[in-house]
Amino acid sequence: MRDPVAAYVALGANLGDAQPTVLRAIKAIGQTPGVSVLRASSLYRTAPVESSGPDYINAVVALDTTLTAPALLAALQALEQAAGRERPYVNAPRTLDLDLLLYGSARIGSPHLTVPHPRMDQRAFVLVPLAEIAPGLVTALQLERVGTQAVRRL
Ligand code: ADP
Ligand code: MG
Repeated sequence: MRDPVAAYVALGANLGDAQPTVLRAIKAIGQTPGVSVLRASSLYRTAPVESSGPDYINAVVALDTTLTAPALLAALQALEQAAGRERPYVNAPRTLDLDLLLYGSARIGSPHLTVPHPRMDQRAFVLVPLAEIAPGLVTALQLERVGTQAVRRL
Protein backbone atom coordinates (compact mmCIF):
# COMPACT_ATOMS: atom_id res chain seq x y z
CA MET A 1 0.00 0.00 0.00
CA ARG A 2 1.33 3.44 -0.91
CA ASP A 3 1.61 6.09 1.77
CA PRO A 4 -1.19 8.64 1.42
CA VAL A 5 -0.25 11.93 -0.21
CA ALA A 6 -1.79 15.32 0.64
CA ALA A 7 -3.34 16.79 -2.50
CA TYR A 8 -5.42 19.89 -3.24
CA VAL A 9 -8.12 20.14 -5.89
CA ALA A 10 -9.87 23.27 -7.17
CA LEU A 11 -13.52 23.03 -8.21
CA GLY A 12 -15.32 25.46 -10.49
CA ALA A 13 -18.69 25.55 -12.22
CA ASN A 14 -20.60 28.25 -14.08
CA LEU A 15 -23.23 26.46 -16.16
CA GLY A 16 -26.43 24.89 -14.94
CA ASP A 17 -27.04 24.75 -11.23
CA ALA A 18 -23.46 25.52 -10.24
CA GLN A 19 -23.78 25.51 -6.46
CA PRO A 20 -25.32 22.01 -6.08
CA THR A 21 -22.94 20.75 -8.78
CA VAL A 22 -19.91 21.83 -6.73
CA LEU A 23 -21.35 20.40 -3.49
CA ARG A 24 -22.15 17.10 -5.20
CA ALA A 25 -18.65 17.00 -6.71
CA ILE A 26 -17.03 17.44 -3.28
CA LYS A 27 -19.06 14.49 -2.05
CA ALA A 28 -18.22 12.41 -5.11
CA ILE A 29 -14.49 13.13 -4.74
CA GLY A 30 -14.72 11.83 -1.17
CA GLN A 31 -16.44 8.66 -2.38
CA THR A 32 -13.67 7.89 -4.87
CA PRO A 33 -11.75 4.76 -3.81
CA GLY A 34 -8.33 5.77 -2.49
CA VAL A 35 -9.39 9.36 -1.77
CA SER A 36 -10.45 10.99 1.51
CA VAL A 37 -11.57 14.62 1.68
CA LEU A 38 -9.96 16.15 4.79
CA ARG A 39 -11.22 19.72 4.43
CA ALA A 40 -13.46 21.65 2.07
CA SER A 41 -13.40 25.43 1.75
CA SER A 42 -16.48 27.61 1.73
CA LEU A 43 -18.09 28.16 -1.65
CA TYR A 44 -17.09 31.39 -3.41
CA ARG A 45 -18.82 33.33 -6.16
CA THR A 46 -16.41 34.84 -8.68
CA ALA A 47 -16.61 36.70 -11.97
CA PRO A 48 -15.23 34.69 -14.94
CA VAL A 49 -11.44 35.11 -15.41
CA GLU A 50 -10.29 34.43 -19.01
CA SER A 51 -13.66 32.75 -19.49
CA SER A 52 -17.23 33.86 -20.12
CA GLY A 53 -20.83 33.34 -19.11
CA PRO A 54 -22.39 33.52 -15.66
CA ASP A 55 -20.42 33.93 -12.41
CA TYR A 56 -18.54 30.88 -11.21
CA ILE A 57 -18.96 28.95 -8.00
CA ASN A 58 -15.52 27.91 -6.77
CA ALA A 59 -14.07 25.90 -3.90
CA VAL A 60 -10.91 24.01 -2.96
CA VAL A 61 -10.66 20.68 -1.14
CA ALA A 62 -7.77 19.07 0.74
CA LEU A 63 -7.37 15.34 0.15
CA ASP A 64 -5.42 12.40 1.39
CA THR A 65 -4.95 9.95 -1.45
CA THR A 66 -3.25 6.65 -2.19
CA LEU A 67 -3.83 7.21 -5.94
CA THR A 68 -0.94 8.29 -8.14
CA ALA A 69 -1.27 11.81 -9.55
CA PRO A 70 -2.28 10.56 -13.05
CA ALA A 71 -4.84 8.19 -11.50
CA LEU A 72 -6.23 11.03 -9.39
CA LEU A 73 -6.49 13.26 -12.49
CA ALA A 74 -8.28 10.45 -14.36
CA ALA A 75 -10.76 10.08 -11.48
CA LEU A 76 -11.38 13.85 -11.48
CA GLN A 77 -11.90 13.86 -15.25
CA ALA A 78 -14.42 11.02 -14.93
CA LEU A 79 -16.38 13.18 -12.47
CA GLU A 80 -16.24 16.12 -14.92
CA GLN A 81 -17.63 13.85 -17.62
CA ALA A 82 -20.36 12.57 -15.30
CA ALA A 83 -21.38 16.20 -14.68
CA GLY A 84 -21.81 16.69 -18.43
CA ARG A 85 -18.59 18.59 -19.12
CA GLU A 86 -18.07 19.60 -22.74
CA ARG A 87 -15.01 21.31 -24.16
CA PRO A 88 -16.21 23.22 -27.26
CA TYR A 89 -13.24 25.67 -27.04
CA VAL A 90 -10.46 26.74 -24.68
CA ASN A 91 -11.72 28.39 -21.47
CA ALA A 92 -15.34 27.76 -22.45
CA PRO A 93 -17.96 27.99 -19.69
CA ARG A 94 -18.22 24.67 -17.90
CA THR A 95 -20.61 22.58 -15.84
CA LEU A 96 -17.70 21.33 -13.72
CA ASP A 97 -13.95 21.90 -13.77
CA LEU A 98 -11.68 19.95 -11.41
CA ASP A 99 -8.02 20.98 -11.38
CA LEU A 100 -5.27 19.25 -9.46
CA LEU A 101 -3.39 22.09 -7.73
CA LEU A 102 -0.83 20.28 -5.60
CA TYR A 103 0.13 16.63 -5.11
CA GLY A 104 2.38 16.45 -2.06
CA SER A 105 5.58 18.25 -2.98
CA ALA A 106 5.64 16.68 -6.45
CA ARG A 107 6.64 18.65 -9.51
CA ILE A 108 5.13 17.03 -12.58
CA GLY A 109 5.49 18.14 -16.19
CA SER A 110 3.90 15.54 -18.43
CA PRO A 111 1.86 16.25 -21.56
CA HIS A 112 -1.39 15.70 -19.65
CA LEU A 113 -0.54 16.87 -16.18
CA THR A 114 1.36 19.84 -14.78
CA VAL A 115 1.68 20.11 -10.99
CA PRO A 116 1.74 22.52 -9.23
CA HIS A 117 -1.08 23.80 -11.44
CA PRO A 118 0.63 26.39 -13.69
CA ARG A 119 -2.03 29.09 -13.41
CA MET A 120 -2.99 28.81 -9.73
CA ASP A 121 -0.86 31.81 -8.75
CA GLN A 122 -2.82 34.11 -11.07
CA ARG A 123 -6.25 33.12 -9.77
CA ALA A 124 -7.91 34.58 -6.70
CA PHE A 125 -10.66 31.96 -7.04
CA VAL A 126 -7.99 29.33 -6.30
CA LEU A 127 -5.73 31.15 -3.84
CA VAL A 128 -8.49 32.55 -1.58
CA PRO A 129 -10.24 29.20 -0.91
CA LEU A 130 -6.86 27.44 -0.66
CA ALA A 131 -5.72 29.98 1.94
CA GLU A 132 -8.94 29.35 3.89
CA ILE A 133 -8.20 25.62 4.35
CA ALA A 134 -4.38 25.65 4.16
CA PRO A 135 -3.14 29.10 5.24
CA GLY A 136 0.46 27.88 5.32
CA LEU A 137 0.41 27.23 1.57
CA VAL A 138 -0.46 30.76 0.44
CA THR A 139 1.50 33.90 1.27
CA ALA A 140 0.12 37.40 1.83
CA LEU A 141 2.08 38.53 -1.23
CA GLN A 142 0.40 35.88 -3.42
CA LEU A 143 -3.03 37.06 -2.23
CA GLU A 144 -2.09 40.70 -2.75
CA ARG A 145 -1.12 40.02 -6.37
CA VAL A 146 -4.64 38.80 -7.18
CA GLY A 147 -6.32 41.37 -4.93
CA THR A 148 -8.16 43.11 -7.77
CA GLN A 149 -10.16 39.97 -8.67
CA ALA A 150 -13.58 39.92 -7.00
CA VAL A 151 -14.16 36.77 -4.93
CA ARG A 152 -17.21 36.68 -2.65
CA ARG A 153 -17.48 34.04 0.06
CA LEU A 154 -20.99 32.57 0.22
P1 ADP B 1 -8.67 24.37 -17.83
O1 ADP B 1 -8.97 23.75 -16.49
O2 ADP B 1 -7.23 24.80 -17.95
O3 ADP B 1 -9.61 25.46 -18.21
P2 ADP B 1 -9.44 21.81 -18.95
O4 ADP B 1 -10.15 21.51 -17.67
O5 ADP B 1 -10.20 21.61 -20.22
O6 ADP B 1 -8.86 23.28 -18.97
O7 ADP B 1 -8.13 20.94 -18.96
C1 ADP B 1 -7.36 20.83 -20.12
C2 ADP B 1 -6.28 19.78 -19.87
O8 ADP B 1 -5.40 20.23 -18.85
C3 ADP B 1 -6.74 18.43 -19.38
O9 ADP B 1 -7.04 17.58 -20.44
C4 ADP B 1 -5.56 17.93 -18.55
O10 ADP B 1 -4.90 16.86 -19.17
C5 ADP B 1 -4.63 19.12 -18.50
N1 ADP B 1 -4.00 19.38 -17.21
C6 ADP B 1 -2.67 19.61 -17.04
N2 ADP B 1 -2.37 19.81 -15.76
C7 ADP B 1 -3.54 19.71 -15.06
C8 ADP B 1 -3.85 19.81 -13.68
N3 ADP B 1 -2.89 20.08 -12.76
N4 ADP B 1 -5.15 19.65 -13.32
C9 ADP B 1 -6.10 19.39 -14.26
N5 ADP B 1 -5.87 19.27 -15.58
C10 ADP B 1 -4.59 19.43 -15.99
MG1 MG C 1 -9.51 21.92 -15.76
